Amino acid sequence: MTILIIAEHDGASIKPATLNVVSAAQQIGGEIHLLVAGHQAQVAASAAASIAGIARVLLADAPQLVGELAENLAQTVLSIAGTYSHLLVSATAFGKNLMPRIAAKLDVAQISEITAVHGADTFDRPIYAGNAIATVRSRDAVKAITVRATAFTPVSAQGGNASIERIDAAADSGKSTFVSRNETALDRPELTSARVIVSGGRGLGSDENFARVLEPLADRLQAALGASRAAVDAGYVPNDLQVGQTGKIVAPQLYIAVGISGAIQHVAGMKDSKIIVAINKDAEAPIFGVADYAIVGDLFSIVPELVAALA
Ligand code: FAD
Repeated sequence: MTILIIAEHDGASIKPATLNVVSAAQQIGGEIHLLVAGHQAQVAASAAASIAGIARVLLADAPQLVGELAENLAQTVLSIAGTYSHLLVSATAFGKNLMPRIAAKLDVAQISEITAVHGADTFDRPIYAGNAIATVRSRDAVKAITVRATAFTPVSAQGGNASIERIDAAADSGKSTFVSRNETALDRPELTSARVIVSGGRGLGSDENFARVLEPLADRLQAALGASRAAVDAGYVPNDLQVGQTGKIVAPQLYIAVGISGAIQHVAGMKDSKIIVAINKDAEAPIFGVADYAIVGDLFSIVPELVAALA
């Protein structure tokens, strides 16, 4: 049994979620190979070779893999898929864009967002926005799986010594072309890999308040900023900060929910956080049902007090 993980990378480093995918692969068992596909991705391949638990790194480096377009990347994966029992990728935007295409081309059922491994063919995955967990068994010869990173402890990015083997990239499919990428420059930790998240909701009332009240707390705690969908829809913050069913799934060590009611769609994205602190003026707010620490009161006085206490 040999497992292929498709690495998410930026050409220079491997994205943290891939380390969680390696952990899931180790629970499945067998030899683990990591595919680094991209253009000028040699440095990322070197980083991949250091990841603990990887037997072999496959490097597909070609101009048509620039931007990791699903059409071209899927073709490259498909050219080697036949030798693998499992294909794994993180259930991030990258993996969600890629794996359905691979599964469809292989004519197998994708197993999405697994959260636990019971054996080589049996996995848990959340359904109904995380309100129920389905245990599914796949009889497909090749299992095409996306992994919910927060459900698996990451392996170390160091300590491995895998060989790097170059493979041919599939020819350009001609179906899509990479034009450009506009990335948000982050001066904070990335939401999905942050240890601490300070998240704000409609209770903040405006974008000015969101920045004025929450940023000092996030600065003190070296935290990422998150938000509810209501805060995003109201234009307080961009939608890449949204946590929840239709946003990002997070599980930091500490999640501080400020002025967030705790709708099931929000809770679906953060309930696996290790410690949850909720600040809300409504003692009946549902968020208190999942909180480890509940602070009932006006966020506009409580958050500045917290910031002062952390000085
Ligand atoms: P509200 O529900 O309006 O709550 C605001 C809270 O702030 C209240 O509890 C209030 O007591 C408190 N408050 C107000 N003023 C203060 C103050 N001064 N001090 C302290 N507390 C105060 N939502 C998400 O977050 N993420 C998702 O991914 C998501 N996906 C969705 C998908 C679907 C299909 C649907 C239908 C909905 C989805 N939603 C999602 C929306 C979700 O149902 C809620 O509408 C949303 O989470 C509410 O955001 P909120 O808690 O900020 O706002």
